[in-house]
Amino acid sequence: MLPSSPIRPLAFGLAALLGFAGIPPAVAQISAAPAILLRPAAVFDGQDLHPGWAVLVEGTRIKAVGPAAQITAPVGAQTLELPGLTLLPGLIEGHSHLLLHPYNETTWNDQVLLESQALRVARATVHARRTLEAGFTTARDLGSEGADYADVGLKQAIDQNLIPGPRLLVATRALVATGSYGPKLSADVDVPQGAQEADGVDGIIRAVREQIGKGADIIKVYADYRWGPNEPSRPTFTQDELNLIVRTANSAGRPVVAHASTPEGMRRATLAGVETIEHGDAGTPEVFRLMKQRGVALCPTVAAGDAISRYRGWAPGQTPLPERLQQKRLSMAAALKSGVTLAIGGDAGVFAHGDNARELELLVQDYGLTPLVVLRAATSGNARLFHLPDRGTLAPGLLADIIAVPNDPTQDIMALRQVKLVLKGGIIFKQP
Ligand SMILES: [Zn+2]
Repeated sequence: MLPSSPIRPLAFGLAALLGFAGIPPAVAQISAAPAILLRPAAVFDGQDLHPGWAVLVEGTRIKAVGPAAQITAPVGAQTLELPGLTLLPGLIEGHSHLLLHPYNETTWNDQVLLESQALRVARATVHARRTLEAGFTTARDLGSEGADYADVGLKQAIDQNLIPGPRLLVATRALVATGSYGPKLSADVDVPQGAQEADGVDGIIRAVREQIGKGADIIKVYADYRWGPNEPSRPTFTQDELNLIVRTANSAGRPVVAHASTPEGMRRATLAGVETIEHGDAGTPEVFRLMKQRGVALCPTVAAGDAISRYRGWAPGQTPLPERLQQKRLSMAAALKSGVTLAIGGDAGVFAHGDNARELELLVQDYGLTPLVVLRAATSGNARLFHLPDRGTLAPGLLADIIAVPNDPTQDIMALRQVKLVLKGGIIFKQP
């Protein structure tokens, strides 16, 4: 876990002027922010590294990006000299659960069953701050895991500048087939579930519309899961049910993403028209080829399996690679060979929020991707997959979501562990 420091509203020292009834807001709210000229050693614009470039921010947006000599700051602009640092677009977390905390602290079952929603939301505010401080200015949060619509409120609190956090895309409750999810106690007791159960034509249409009506930006469906303890994952929804979920969500302008790790669950979700498949642990060359053909991306969440293996006693370099991770190495090799597009998301929540860079590191260290490929995917790539044309690239007119790290992250991915500067919408949340 990264050490965290409390966020101070650094933006231009105006926070004190903006207080309500004498209480300063948690986050400075600037209506007409002046310009900021950022002068780093280099700029990674979401595609390539450009030594000697600078970035001019005006208000909430980027005004200019290019060779430092060609950018003039307007009168009154603040200049931030950032020697030795590289600027890059705010990173985009593709798979988080702000309402969960690491399973080695409290099991998933206990979080869902024993923790009050108030406690979970209070924790989530801390998770949101840590995510932002780690340089992730946007997160696709894929399910509240039993905390109902708390993610919608969390998103509003961040958008209203009440708490610091990333811009959120939320999935709310997520959809599961009756009986397929958890927690499970004895057959005699019905306990609250970590997602919404829905089946058949009427049930599914109603559940999808309910979630959208209450604020879901995305519909998440579990296309397979363990039906009981100590058994492997098996498909849950039928092909017709998955088709209906996608049709209902798409007609309201919402994409669908699927949790799936079995070849059959992945195949059905792909044929139904989901946009990304989460995990894909037992994916085969055939199903990855089908995904590639249909334009479905894979969000491999390698950090989640890594974390769970460690919780179960795996000590890298000292104990043999667990079977789960051996399988993941093979399926990822098949995925990469197929050319399927990768979304970058670690399943943060299984492990500590603020440690989000772990996914990018593991993709480089254990799965053979280059830092440049991973960085492109976590910025401009995720932005394109998640329909966010206003971010993920440093270019004039786009949101001023910008971070800075030491040295050259396109050569050394570990540089992401030292985020020195975080701007979101032109507001400075962390600075050297
Ligand atoms: Zn997840």
